[in-house]
Amino acid sequence: MAEQAYPPHLTAEQLSYLVTSFTDYSLSHGLVVRPVPSFVAQNPNNAIATTAPVTLWPSPFPKNLFTEARAIQTACNLLYARVASDESWLGELTTELSKVDDFIASLWAIHTRIKAESGYRHKYSLGLFRSDYMVHTEDGKPVGIRQVEFNTIASSFGTLSSKVSDLHRFLWRSGAYPPTNLINDISLPRNEALERLAEGLAKAHEVYMQDVAPEKKYKLEMSRTAGPTESFGIMFVVQEGERNAFDQRWLEYHITEKYGIRVFRISLPEIRKYTHHVRPNYELLFVPPHALSSQKQEVFEISVVYFRAGYGPDDYPTQEEWNTRYFLEESRAIKCPTVLTQLAGSKKVQQVLAGKANLEKFITDEQTKERVFDTFAAIYPMDTSEDGLRARKLAFEEPHRFVLKPQREGGGNNIYKEKIPEFLESIDEETWQGYILMELIHPPEVENIVMRNGQMMQGKVVGELGVYGTVIWKDGGDQGVKAVYNEEAGVLLRTKGSSSEEGGVAAGFGCIDSCVLV
Ligand code: ADP
Ligand code: MG
Ligand code: MG
Repeated sequence: MAEQAYPPHLTAEQLSYLVTSFTDYSLSHGLVVRPVPSFVAQNPNNAIATTAPVTLWPSPFPKNLFTEARAIQTACNLLYARVASDESWLGELTTELSKVDDFIASLWAIHTRIKAESGYRHKYSLGLFRSDYMVHTEDGKPVGIRQVEFNTIASSFGTLSSKVSDLHRFLWRSGAYPPTNLINDISLPRNEALERLAEGLAKAHEVYMQDVAPEKKYKLEMSRTAGPTESFGIMFVVQEGERNAFDQRWLEYHITEKYGIRVFRISLPEIRKYTHHVRPNYELLFVPPHALSSQKQEVFEISVVYFRAGYGPDDYPTQEEWNTRYFLEESRAIKCPTVLTQLAGSKKVQQVLAGKANLEKFITDEQTKERVFDTFAAIYPMDTSEDGLRARKLAFEEPHRFVLKPQREGGGNNIYKEKIPEFLESIDEETWQGYILMELIHPPEVENIVMRNGQMMQGKVVGELGVYGTVIWKDGGDQGVKAVYNEEAGVLLRTKGSSSEEGGVAAGFGCIDSCVLV
């Protein structure tokens, strides 16, 4: 068959039909976000939503690299579980960073205070991770995937990503896409991130229940009748005014509807009004706000605390929020993530692991280690070590090759290329060691149409593939880490205009896509 343009050229009638199908499917399937105030000035009672930013077409992605990224996810899950459990290794890195980074220092202080006081009460940790990759090209040819970063807290967009995959499949099946030689039932795989992430949370609930009440022989079942009598539940810690609330809601709905587990959404500043611990085991008890006025007061024991907030300094405007984080950490509930797991996701850890000798410490199997290592790009410290001094020189002499990253999450924090020297000059040299210098990855450009607030933008785009991973582990001290559950959990393809440096969807730079495997 002759080589076709992709996406195919459409007549005005075809395009209009496609866009209507696309928009209505998004709205009717909750593939939505809350609008920015500049788009909808008034949103009384938060009752207005708009379509999430999504590509009109799935973007081509090399099948072999897609398969490899997913195949190594359980190894990456274990790697980060091990890092999070190695207090002395992590402590050494973190203590250095703490000198120049107050946020990291505050997180580490929670850990040291718990150790100094009574020790941890939780037995298991839950990770809902996302390892992000770009396809790297040399001379325009794809050579492999390179890891952009590894997220250990608030890895978002999994559920909307499943819905985008469903949307693109629907558009193909319904005939809204005219036939192309790329799209078929096999090249457009269904993405199960929603189901798999919900399962990870539900499994952690099961692990907690079996631990606190072994005699009850609690077993997770699909379609267990949700009972208002159930006195255990999962807590979602969320940001007030979250625009991406529906991505979180879909997890909640799945957990409650499929497994019959209650979910409570609450923001960090509100938590202490409704919670307390029970000594001596520090069970975390929660009286939901809506239950306070009812005749019979309902009290729930929280099995899992799932953080979709707390990943950056803005979530801790006062000491109160830090106290709350400590209070949650100290409880018996399973945390997703623990403070240590959050610290394991810092850019600094990623930089140190990019050195093979360090990676070796955490991955013993030779072949697995090589496969994971193959996905790493060059990352340098910005400290005063030999490597650090070399990187400092590179940052000034060849800035166009690099991105400079602070220890922050959520997008919009990095400094790119030519802006690096002037940025470094504008800050105190003592603080440079709080950053890492990473070689830029050059993803291949493809053509697509981005739909944002009903407007179309056509052009060259690049994608970033996130692979989710769910893992539950018990820290065995000297015995190492024992994973009781370890799964790959679906994907996210985020696409941005090829000239844009950042790709965050929530930060307003990118949009959600799905893969058509080529
Ligand atoms: P954050 O934790 O804020 O998401 P990231 O490390 O993911 O930080 O960087 C944000 C964005 O910057 C990425 O989504 C990607 O678009 C771009 N980016 C980061 N590192 C690189 C790199 N090495 N090469 C090319 N682009 C990068
Ligand atoms: Mg991140
Ligand atoms: Mg990122």
